[in-house]
Amino acid sequence: MVSRVIPVDSFDLVVFGGTGDLARRKILPGLYRRFLAGQMTAESRIIGAARADLTEEAYRAMVGEAIDEFVPKDRRDAAVIAEFLARIGYVSIDAKGSAGWDVLRDKMRPNVVRAFYFSVAPALFGDIAERLHSNQIADAWSRIVVEKPFGRDLASAKALNAVLASHFNEGQIYRIDHYLGKETVQNLMAVRFANILFEPLWKSEYIDHVQITVAETVDVSGRGAYYDKSGAMRDMVQNHMMQLLCLIAMEPPYHFDPDAVRDEKLKVIRALEPVKPEDIVRGQYLGAKGEAGYVQHSENPASRTESYIALKVNIANWRWKGTPFYLRTGKKMRARASEIAITFKEPPHSIFDDAKGWKENVLVIRLQPNEGMELMMMIKEPGPGGMRLMQVPLDMAFADALGVEAEDVPDAYERLIMDVIRGNQTLFMRGDEVEAAWAWTDPIIQGWEARGERPQSYDAGSSGPEDALMLMHRDGRRWREIKE
Ligand code: NAP
Repeated sequence: MVSRVIPVDSFDLVVFGGTGDLARRKILPGLYRRFLAGQMTAESRIIGAARADLTEEAYRAMVGEAIDEFVPKDRRDAAVIAEFLARIGYVSIDAKGSAGWDVLRDKMRPNVVRAFYFSVAPALFGDIAERLHSNQIADAWSRIVVEKPFGRDLASAKALNAVLASHFNEGQIYRIDHYLGKETVQNLMAVRFANILFEPLWKSEYIDHVQITVAETVDVSGRGAYYDKSGAMRDMVQNHMMQLLCLIAMEPPYHFDPDAVRDEKLKVIRALEPVKPEDIVRGQYLGAKGEAGYVQHSENPASRTESYIALKVNIANWRWKGTPFYLRTGKKMRARASEIAITFKEPPHSIFDDAKGWKENVLVIRLQPNEGMELMMMIKEPGPGGMRLMQVPLDMAFADALGVEAEDVPDAYERLIMDVIRGNQTLFMRGDEVEAAWAWTDPIIQGWEARGERPQSYDAGSSGPEDALMLMHRDGRRWREIKE
């Protein structure tokens, strides 16, 4: 099956930070792939902006190198790349200065969608927003895209929201959480709300608990100093994992409409109970076999920042009272795997004398790798000798089911940038959502800081600290194995 590509309106997209890591790795190669797929109209243009004094030729050469490096060989077509590069311009601009803005203004065309991607440090958001306005580059229809981290606590998130709000209305602000652009994450909504099968069971009466795992094998080397000021709670839980939790826990929105969806997510965040200290486990990876550990990577021997966190989260509403959500994420783990596992309760009565083989039904939604879904079911073990039960998976890898090569599925950034051009905010976080998430996160972080807690060590390549296992065992449950 070939996925349908609907071209978006003609646009001018300015990428502030157009020479940076994110632009080179994700934004520019992603735009090339959309161009290759025929989604970007031929007249659309991309303008890089950064302080570096580059000619347009030099910038195009840099973008060409980024495509060579980050787009797989079989998706690189020299003629298409040349056509794509012809649509690229560059302006040297210091976000804090006054030079270059008139050049940028003169490059912008009338009557096309204007989008401005702030792929720069958040400290520059205010400067850029203000100059886009004072130089009359942005208009009431322009859109801005801002990257995480959106604040490091409630106060800084509020300040960022206020800075942006002084120049743009909420309908113009696209706060990226690239997790929301993943195919499987959107599929969560399709699975829940386009099937009658699950929704009647989707509550504490039938669901024992939910596990959300985002395990990474990478360490923090290269960005240790940055990460050390953040940690797993700020870097992953407050944003990505919170979004996953919301999509699992939210009520059906009245319509698949940006504000209807975001209203429901916000209600979930507001219903989160404060997390008790005993329901939090933080960890820091040790170096394995002569490799550096977290403290060496962070260059802070006294660091108390967590590279791993596990939490038991309760949602205080009718649907979820009594069904905990266990969240865990970490660096330098055994395998790279992200999944959501929904474990159902036991049937109320077993008609089988020997229920030894019995295990719970589990619905597993795999976000990466090998995006897909698995439903663990009980069947009869084949063969004579009476009724014995065994658990088998109903397994659906999306790539197999849809006949689409993984390479052809747009990556999260590609999808989200096209949504910006379309003016669809469903997969972007609203300001009040971000603030509510920080309002829940802040006391958790303040709590362990006030208690002076140090994270526990865990071995690189393991499943995390011992106490994380206890967090589940204590409740008579166990984590699913982390495997690719
Ligand atoms: P980066 O590699 O350090 O790039 C920063 C970019 O900003 C460069 O193009 C730099 O070019 C430009 N810049 C810096 N100061 C400027 C100024 N005063 N005026 C105009 N341009 C300026 O950073 P990055 O990794 O691409 O990250 C960009 C943003 O995305 C950050 O907010 C980051 O937190 C976020 N983010 C990044 C990733 C990632 O994977 N990299 C993932 C999620 C979020 P010049 O020095 O030439 O000006």
